[in-house]
Amino acid sequence: MKVDYIIVGQGVAGTLLAYFLKQQDQTVMVFDPVYERSASQVAAGIINPITGRRYVKSWRVDELIPFAKSTYRKLERELGVSIYHEQHIIRTLFNQREENDWLSRTGDPGYETYMLEQAELGPYAEYTERAFSYGEVCHSAQVDIGVLANTYREILKAEGAFRKSSFDYELLQITPEGVTYQDVSASTIIFCEGAKTVDNPFFNYLPFAGAKGDVLLIRIPDQRFEKIIKHRVFLVPLMNDLYWVGATYDRKYEDDCPTNTGRAFLEERLADFLKLPFEVVTHKAAIRPTVKDRRPFLGRHPEHNSLAIFNGLGTKGASLAPFWAHHMAEFLLKKRKLDKAVDIKRC
Ligand SMILES: Cc1cc2nc3c(=O)[nH]c(=O)nc-3n(C[C@H](O)[C@H](O)[C@H](O)COP(=O)(O)OP(=O)(O)OC[C@H]3O[C@@H](n4cnc5c(N)ncnc54)[C@H](O)[C@@H]3O)c2cc1C
Repeated sequence: MKVDYIIVGQGVAGTLLAYFLKQQDQTVMVFDPVYERSASQVAAGIINPITGRRYVKSWRVDELIPFAKSTYRKLERELGVSIYHEQHIIRTLFNQREENDWLSRTGDPGYETYMLEQAELGPYAEYTERAFSYGEVCHSAQVDIGVLANTYREILKAEGAFRKSSFDYELLQITPEGVTYQDVSASTIIFCEGAKTVDNPFFNYLPFAGAKGDVLLIRIPDQRFEKIIKHRVFLVPLMNDLYWVGATYDRKYEDDCPTNTGRAFLEERLADFLKLPFEVVTHKAAIRPTVKDRRPFLGRHPEHNSLAIFNGLGTKGASLAPFWAHHMAEFLLKKRKLDKAVDIKRC
């Protein structure tokens, strides 16, 4: 069988790359074992334009968020599922200094669209411990990137373009025309394996870091919190009284399994501010594909031109993936040069 592209890994990166390539009439074959502890299955998919202790705009957020929103909205229409949920983020400010920093940042040019001086707590006012003060972030969202990957997989399967299997690097043949793997030949193979890239003999030279995160899915009956709140941990409303709580951030880890320490940390942080009882429904963990300079990895292998990578989405896959998957597809189709900030040649 001959296709234009083989894609290894179908998290949010592989899914959106397949989507944009197919939009340009390219054929793909996607390999993935469907691993429950992949980052896209565990993440909340929060898009947060204002981050860090200094309340700065995330990298290139003015381009990334509108592109992400229009891509996810288009996919919602095509797939018939709900993916992109616009939700403001209430940000707890713990002392006078934090409040001053917040207020002064709201006056900076380009920040007024994303930050409100005065937060509207809604039901959080009654059901959480009162903190010193609060800020509110707009143009933020929760994106069901796991639902997106799972739904898109069904489309790929129906087209015979998906194989549920782990890719075996030793079986890859590099040919003058491209690559051959099992019975599939392609001009290029693109690796989108998230944190598992450390096992990829062709691209594990790249400076991946990796950061493990534990998360909880909890139930809080009969509440209608509509906004995300960040009070040391994020509490993210999903649906049917379910909420995502996370996450831990560990640079050192032995494996990708959930730990008792991670769960205890999250439960304690939640109990610090939530005045309501909650039931833990699920406890999960995964490793974020973080990169030392915090920029995605796009490009072709320096020696084998038919091998390429799209990875390094780090802690921000929901906002980065649409824009950079589209960029990668255009690069593969020779419609543009890679942006130097994301090109693996920088390493
Ligand atoms: C706890 C946690 C919380 C997070 N919260 C957020 C958040 O709120 N907002 C946000 O934007 N981002 C968040 N992230 C980050 C986000 O999840 C990632 O940036 C994004 O999901 C990475 O997508 P990916 O497709 O590159 O990797 P993954 O989602 O890990 O997908 C990689 C895929 O490759 C497959 N694969 C691996 N090896 C092979 C192989 N040999 N053969 C075939 N297939 C293979 C895996 O099965 C998997 O499906 C979070 C991550 C974690 C872990």
